Amino acid sequence: MELYENENFRDSIGTVDDSGKRNFIFPKKPKGKLYNYRTYVSWFLLAIMILAPFIKINGNQFLLFNVIERKFHIFGFPFWPQDFHLLVISLLLSVVFIILFTVVFGRIFCGWMCPQTIFMEMVFRKVEYLIEGDRTKQIKLEKQAWNAEKIRKRILKWTSFFIISFIISNVFLAYIIGSDEVLQYITQGLLANLSTLVNLLIFTLVFYFIFAWFREQVCIIVCPYGRLQGVLLDDKSINVAYDFVRGEGNHGRKKLRKDENREELGHGDCIDCDQCVQVCPTGIDIRNGTQLECINCTACIDACDDIMDRIGFDRGLIRYASEDDIEKGEKFKFTPRLMAYSTILTILVGVLLAMIFLRNDVEATILRLPGQTFQSTESTIKNVYTVKLINKTTKDIEDVVIKLISHKGEIEMVGGHLNVKKQGLKEGTLFIEINKKDLLSSKEKLKIGIYSNGELIETTSTNFAGPLKIN
Ligand code: SF4
Ligand code: SF4
Repeated sequence: MELYENENFRDSIGTVDDSGKRNFIFPKKPKGKLYNYRTYVSWFLLAIMILAPFIKINGNQFLLFNVIERKFHIFGFPFWPQDFHLLVISLLLSVVFIILFTVVFGRIFCGWMCPQTIFMEMVFRKVEYLIEGDRTKQIKLEKQAWNAEKIRKRILKWTSFFIISFIISNVFLAYIIGSDEVLQYITQGLLANLSTLVNLLIFTLVFYFIFAWFREQVCIIVCPYGRLQGVLLDDKSINVAYDFVRGEGNHGRKKLRKDENREELGHGDCIDCDQCVQVCPTGIDIRNGTQLECINCTACIDACDDIMDRIGFDRGLIRYASEDDIEKGEKFKFTPRLMAYSTILTILVGVLLAMIFLRNDVEATILRLPGQTFQSTESTIKNVYTVKLINKTTKDIEDVVIKLISHKGEIEMVGGHLNVKKQGLKEGTLFIEINKKDLLSSKEKLKIGIYSNGELIETTSTNFAGPLKIN
């Protein structure tokens, strides 16, 4: 243990050398049970990521984040800027969920589900291995002069990366402007839509830069989630961890020697083979403990298990475990902190579901026309209003009639009945005329009903202005 405590821990990130230069990582290709599982999970998630904007439910895109036209579809449900409160609750929910999840399972999301990891490790890195070979060959290629082999491999790699980035950009654009538009642009030909092509190329270059050069730096220095680990993790959080009790023994790790009895000499099970470091895509040594660079990709678990199998030791020297599990043998417990987080999460989920369930399909806003005063006749007062109707459903709403509920009076719709197309917005003007004897004050609150085909579909309220002294 002494050796572990006296270790000189670095005070800079693993991908920067002492002079401040980028230390480019050439991780060894992982292989093993967890890497296979991660590959299957990545295929599934990649399929969802790519297909989500092309799947339609009731004619709505499954996922759409059209910030330009302020149209949002989540799981096929259309959301409008008027549903902003639902978005706020969803965001709050996501934050609590992330905290709860991270407190218990550490950065499992980063290794298994994060799009950055999936694209980097399961798409671009695999293409790189295919073209340039494994770690040793990549390092050799990097060091060698620009001969025919290097030029050919690099051009092939850069072109492949560019094409993949271009495909990702198209999918990304489908999330923003809608898949129908993207498919239309493709069928019309790229040159017919030059501005879209320029945007696509900008996105492509951004993705290319991230996956060809910036890589793990996204997780280490850009991603806010990674930075949160320090405050979210505790000794009970499950992480990819090195069992230093077993690995270091009483006298530390040591290379394997044939005729030595490690147990008698007090050495741990770590044979200092460096395989866990060589496979790490963020260039760290997990034996130095939990570090902010670790994305919990499990590559070091597979690498170490492979070594353990070969030397006949038990697997799991590096495994998913908490500090308390490793140090004190304590298994996972549902702590009061977890209980509090779970309660908050349950309440928020309930509120969100209730709000989505009670959400109106039609939203009506009736406001007095700015700058207009009321008109007075002998027996009545008249005000002019603008009306805005939003149809959030996937069916047209026809023959909309607007009626007074709280007062007797007349509503005159300019241009007759309104029809609002599915997921459409319609604006119009209307006059409300009320008999003076039915008004009690100069600023009366009116309750108004919106009817379609004789059925009340929404109620709203507005103010009705009149003279200070009525009658
Ligand atoms: S792979 Fe396992 S045995 Fe080899 S250095 Fe890492 S922890 Fe030690
Ligand atoms: S330390 Fe292990 S789990 Fe963490 S990033 Fe490196 S290889 Fe992946």
